[in-house]
Amino acid sequence: MAQVQLQNIGKTYPNGFEALHPTSFEIAEGEFTVLVGPSGCGKSTLLRMVAGLEDITSGELQIAGRVVNTVEPAERDIAMVFQNYALYPHMTVRKNIGYGLKNRGTSKQTIAQKVDEAAALLNLGDYLDRKPSQLSGGQRQRVAMGRAIVRDPALFLFDEPLSNLDAKLRNQMRIEIKALQRRLGVTSIYVTHDQVEAMTMADRIIVMNAGRIEQIGTPSEVYHNPASTFVAAFMGAPPMNLFPAEVTDGQVMLGGQPLCAAPAQGAVTAGIRPEDFILDATGPLSMDVQIIEELGAHRLLHGTLGTHSVTVLVSNDITAATGPQHLSVRPDAVCVFNTIDGKRL
Ligand code: ATP
Repeated sequence: MAQVQLQNIGKTYPNGFEALHPTSFEIAEGEFTVLVGPSGCGKSTLLRMVAGLEDITSGELQIAGRVVNTVEPAERDIAMVFQNYALYPHMTVRKNIGYGLKNRGTSKQTIAQKVDEAAALLNLGDYLDRKPSQLSGGQRQRVAMGRAIVRDPALFLFDEPLSNLDAKLRNQMRIEIKALQRRLGVTSIYVTHDQVEAMTMADRIIVMNAGRIEQIGTPSEVYHNPASTFVAAFMGAPPMNLFPAEVTDGQVMLGGQPLCAAPAQGAVTAGIRPEDFILDATGPLSMDVQIIEELGAHRLLHGTLGTHSVTVLVSNDITAATGPQHLSVRPDAVCVFNTIDGKRL
């Protein structure tokens, strides 16, 4: 059964701006879904409507089989973790974690037991008597998680919860959150503008652009089979190389060489991931390598292919030099898009 079901959910703000065009999708019980897209694409608006913090303009929202369009946030059986943690500065960690339960009238004994369990799960046992100001950013984030966990919700909502942490801690916390979600099995919706976070954490990714859904799929589907040039360029760092290409005799041509069979006539856009090129002395394509970027295990070669810029990823055991290099492309690695609307052909 779908835990969360959106049917033609749309949002127009009072000033007339349509932040979310009518959108439908379902989230299965226990699934970790990540909403990802650039700033302003409408992902927070969507999450806030699920949370009940924003009115729904059109459509129907169901959580656990119940229509909740007009149900108060507190009655939706959800717990939300925010970017700024929203902790109470004057309360200890113990009180912060237990606060929601106390508000609900839960007995002192049950609160103590649930707080202890959550603290053990989150490695916060030694910090229960501290105030938030005496904690690191990562520990504060864990307290916010603890507060969500003790409520035993049907649904976790995360709004960019790692944005305030440094890069190293972000990497660590995203693994922790993912592991915790797996362990608890609670259906989760996670909003981020960071495609790496989306790729590494999600069971399913929803890529959004300008108030619309561009693609829904597993990380692998979204990465290897992008539905549009937008998804191709947004997911993956460095992004997929996109080249204007011509179709001749049923073949997509790049630099005068056939790349793959053409699904359409005329002008198309050919997409090739940086790792799908092979440095190959007998390869048909010629790249002018201008800059080599060392990444440790890999190297990025930046340069041009004819008149277009190109980035190629090679393993560090491949010797690379600036200047002309021959390339081939892995079979079946070319994605072909409609040049006009950017959709996959
Ligand atoms: P970010 O990553 O920057 O938070 P987002 O994808 O979460 O971006 P939203 O906050 O959902 O984007 O905003 C979507 C669009 O709706 C933006 O263009 C924003 O300016 C607009 N918007 C948000 N709140 C309102 C409001 N109260 N009134 C009018 N427009 C709004």
